[in-house]
This record gives sequence, structure tokens and C-alpha cells, in this order.
Amino acid sequence: MDYGKMITKKIKSIGESPTIAIDEKAKMLKKKGVDVISFAMGEPGFDTPENIKEKAIESIQAGFTKYTPVAGIDELKSAIVAKLKRDNMIDYSLSEVIVSCGAKHSLFNISQALFDGDDEVIILAPYWVTYPAQVTLAGARPVIVDTSKFDDLMISKRELKEYVTSKTKAIILNNPCNPSGKVYSRQELEVVAQIVLENNIFVISDEIYERLVYDEVHHMSVAALSKEIKTRTITVNGVSKTYAMTGWRIGYSAGPQELIDAMKKFQGQVTSNPVSIAQYASSEALTGPQHYVDHMRIKYQERRDYVVKELNSIEGITCRMPEGAFYAFPNVADLFGRKSGDVVIKNSMDFCSFVLDEARVAMVPGKAFGCDNFVRLSYAVNMQSIKNGIERIRNAMDKLE
Ligand SMILES: *Cc1c(COP(=O)(O)O)cnc(C)c1O
Repeated sequence: MDYGKMITKKIKSIGESPTIAIDEKAKMLKKKGVDVISFAMGEPGFDTPENIKEKAIESIQAGFTKYTPVAGIDELKSAIVAKLKRDNMIDYSLSEVIVSCGAKHSLFNISQALFDGDDEVIILAPYWVTYPAQVTLAGARPVIVDTSKFDDLMISKRELKEYVTSKTKAIILNNPCNPSGKVYSRQELEVVAQIVLENNIFVISDEIYERLVYDEVHHMSVAALSKEIKTRTITVNGVSKTYAMTGWRIGYSAGPQELIDAMKKFQGQVTSNPVSIAQYASSEALTGPQHYVDHMRIKYQERRDYVVKELNSIEGITCRMPEGAFYAFPNVADLFGRKSGDVVIKNSMDFCSFVLDEARVAMVPGKAFGCDNFVRLSYAVNMQSIKNGIERIRNAMDKLE
């Protein structure tokens, strides 16, 4: 039987997550004994802090192993409300918050609750690979706005306006951005907010890397700009990146109650509550000691400084200094057309294949993020791997004619 024919158009309309695909290829090579260094996966290179693990163990022993309310336990929702007030200066009530199975799931619920067949959703490129896929799964149309030709990765209000039509429903903003590491300034957020308010649309603000910003850069939440914009914003965050908790699967959304209720209705028919134990652990993450966040941030900053400096010293590669997250997003287009033997590098995919084959270093082609002149390296791995990996890339580049 040809099972392929039986798979829905919906599933065929989306691609496999390329970051996961490349990381899997790298892991497969590793398994075969090939010594691969992977800069592909976006995952903290630290363990989950001890107090968080202990809270999880305690909650198992206390018997918190049953269904919870669909939108999450009050203890965690209160911790989220307090966090959003403390760190982001946004006031939400408990009923304006919903906890989901990771921020990816939060975003999926939003697109299911908010987007219909005819809707258009504006996504700034470079974008996180999941945004267009989730918009497509909701039956709506992603409208991609390429910001990669500008040094500050932002376009003017006049230019952004050109992408808005009567069908536009929302703009998805990722601040700090994966893959570019860009953190939006207040002025840039004002541009987005003005477009949103003038056109009665929504902004979905994915702030999962908010605590990972470097130097004197200040992260600001778009919902904190004004009362008006808050009524048009859904703020998304989670514990995965800040607390090295990717496996625990806890993310959350905060926004106007009617939208949150719609998401709750949907989630109630899909997953019900997120894992009870992970919810208790996450409330400990948000309310317990925060010093290790600083510790991780300082480590990431050292790695960022090293990676960006080294990349810029390789001929043909230029890399903007990312203000946040844990990715470098260098432009490699100057190397297109160069070759090694019969291999000609024509695009970001060719570049990454060449580096994986020649240097045994895994990176993600920028095409996956809507920007084919770039590649993404995650520097959330340890410093020794970073040093070796960069050296290998440098040597591989020397082989290009
Ligand atoms: C990692 C990531 C997420 C989601 O993380 P979860 O583990 O699902 O909470 C969301 N947005 C961006 C941009 C990410 O990089």
C-alpha cells in the first residue's frame, strides 16, 4: 500500500524542522564514531538547577501526579503573573494566563485560536522555523518580511505598512530573535505597535530568550509600551531557555482573557493540562533563586564574544554582534561560487553540507530561517567545543578555491 498517498494535505504542506533534522544527522554520524561538533541545536548546554529538580521530586512524593486545571495550577500562574510584573512591567490577572506544553505549544494554541483560512500573518525574516509552519497548519498564509538586508535587521514603518492588507490578522515578533540574536529597541517596538494599533491587528511577542541579553542591552516587552497595545498583544514565554529546562515542556501565554479562554478551550480538547510535576518545578524556577541565570548568561556572553570575533576573522564571513539569545548568524554569501574539488558552494545548504562533510561541524542553513545568505551557529555548547569547531571551520574555508 502507498501510505504516502493517505497522509493529509495539511501534513504535506509543512516541512520537517530543519534544525532537528540536521542535529539528528550529526547525532547519527556521532553514533557511527565520527567526531562531530554540533552547533545545530538550540538548547542550553547546562543542567537544570538542583532546587528545580528537587521541587519536582517533592511534588511526585506529595502525590501531585494527577490532572490539574487545563490552564495550569494557580501556584504556577501566580508565579508567572509576578514574573511578568517584576521583569516585564506588564500587569496580568490569573485568568489572563495559560500554561501549555512548551512555548512552541503556546504558539500553536494561539495560531489555532486566532487564525482562519483567509488570514495573513506577518513574520519578520530571519524567523524561527516554527512560525510559518504553525500559521500554515492553521490554514492561514504567512507573509514574510525580509529584514536581513538591513544591518539592524529592522525595516521602517513605511516599508512595514506595505505588507499590511485587509486580511492581515497579526504580526509575530521574536524578541530576542532566534536565529539572529537581535533585541528590538523601544523605537523599533513602537513601529510595530503603531502598525498594530492603526490596523486593529494583533502582535504575538515570543520572548523566550528575554533573560539572555548581553552588555548594557535592555529587553523591553511590546505589551509594556502602553495600555492600548497590551490589549492587542499576546506575550509568550517559558522556562526552557532561561532555566535550562527544555525537556520539561512548560511554556505560557498572557493576553486578553477572551483569547486566553479560546486557547484554553482548544487545549482542553488536545492535551488537557501540561505535566503536573513540571508545573511545580517551573513555579520553583520562577520564584526560587535566580543567580544561576546570571551565571549562564555570563558564560553565554563569553562564548558569544569569542564566536563572533573568530567568525569575523575568517575571510568571506561577516557576523553581526547579536544582543541576545545564544546564536550567531553570520553572512556567508561572499563565499558562494567558491569550490573545493567538484563541490561548488551555491547557497547556505551547500555551505552547511560542505562544512559538515569537510570539517565535521554541524550548522543550520539560513534558508531554514528565510535568509539564504546566512547560517546559524548555536554557541550554547561548551567553550572547548566552540574553539575546536571554529578552528575546523577555518581550516575547511582554507580548502576553498
Ligand atoms: C526554543 C524556542 C521556543 C520554544 O521553546 P519550548 O521548549 O517549546 O518552550 C519558542 N520560540 C523560540 C524562538 C525558540 O527558540
